[in-house]
Amino acid sequence: MSRSLRLRRLTLGALLIGAALLAGCERTPAGRLQLALVPESIMTDMGTQAFADMRQQRPLVQHGTTPARVRCVLDRITDQVAAVYPEARAPAEWQIAVFDDASPNAFALPGGHVGVHSGLLNVASNNAQLAAVLGHEVAHMLADHGNERMTQKLGVNAVLLLIGLFADIDSAMVFQALGIGAELGITLPFSRAHEREADLMGLELMAAAGFDPAESVALWRNMARAGGDQPPEFLSTHPAHDNRIESLQAHLPAANRRFADAAIADCQ
Ligand SMILES: [Zn+2]
Repeated sequence: MSRSLRLRRLTLGALLIGAALLAGCERTPAGRLQLALVPESIMTDMGTQAFADMRQQRPLVQHGTTPARVRCVLDRITDQVAAVYPEARAPAEWQIAVFDDASPNAFALPGGHVGVHSGLLNVASNNAQLAAVLGHEVAHMLADHGNERMTQKLGVNAVLLLIGLFADIDSAMVFQALGIGAELGITLPFSRAHEREADLMGLELMAAAGFDPAESVALWRNMARAGGDQPPEFLSTHPAHDNRIESLQAHLPAANRRFADAAIADCQ
C-alpha cells in the first residue's frame, strides 16, 4: 500500500471514530456529558435477557400485598418521567419483580426492568423511602448509565468494531463475539458520578410523584445503619453515606418546591 493511501485510510478511520464519538457523546437528562456508544437495541436485549434469567433462577415474592405496593410506587414514579425529564428516552413499559432475598438491594436493567429484593422493604420503612430507591433505579436507566459503563468497560474501539460488524445487530452474536455474558451490564459497579446523578434525578422524580423527598435522607440513614451487609448496587464505588446525605440535603429545597405542587401519592 502506498504511503499516501495508508495516510488517507488512517485519516478516514480517525474521521469515522470522531464521527461516532460525536454521535455517541450526549447529555444525560441531568445535563452531564456522557459517552454511550453501545446501540440501544443491544442494551435492551441484554437487560431483557438478564431479567428473564433472574426471574427463572431466583425465588420470587408473588403473593401478599408487597408486589402490588412496589408496583404502585414504581408506577407513581414512572408516571412523572415525561414531565420531569421530557428529553429522556423512557422504555414503553416498565417491568418489576420482587425477589425473595434478604439483602436490601434493588437494581434496574436496560429495557425498563426493575428488581427489588424483599429485604429492601425492611430498610425502606415506608412508601416514600421505597420511592427514593425506585426513583434512583429509574434514574440510572433514564440516564443510560448502563450503556456508559459498558462503553467504558469495552473501550471505544471495541464498541466501534461491534457497531461495524453488526450493522444488522444480533445481540446473541455480539455477546459471543465479545466473550461476555448478558449479566455484564449488571455486575459492574456504577461510578460515583452515576450514583450522585441517580440520587438527584431520583429525588426530583419522587417529589413530582408526591412522595416526601426528605424521606430520601431517612432512607440513606437506614441504609447506613443496615451497615456491613450492604448490597453491591449500594456499596461498591458509592460515595460515603454522609456525602450522599449532604448532597441530597443541598437539593432538598428545590425538590420540596416540586413536592408542594404534587398530588400526594397514595399506595397501600
Ligand atoms: Zn445506584
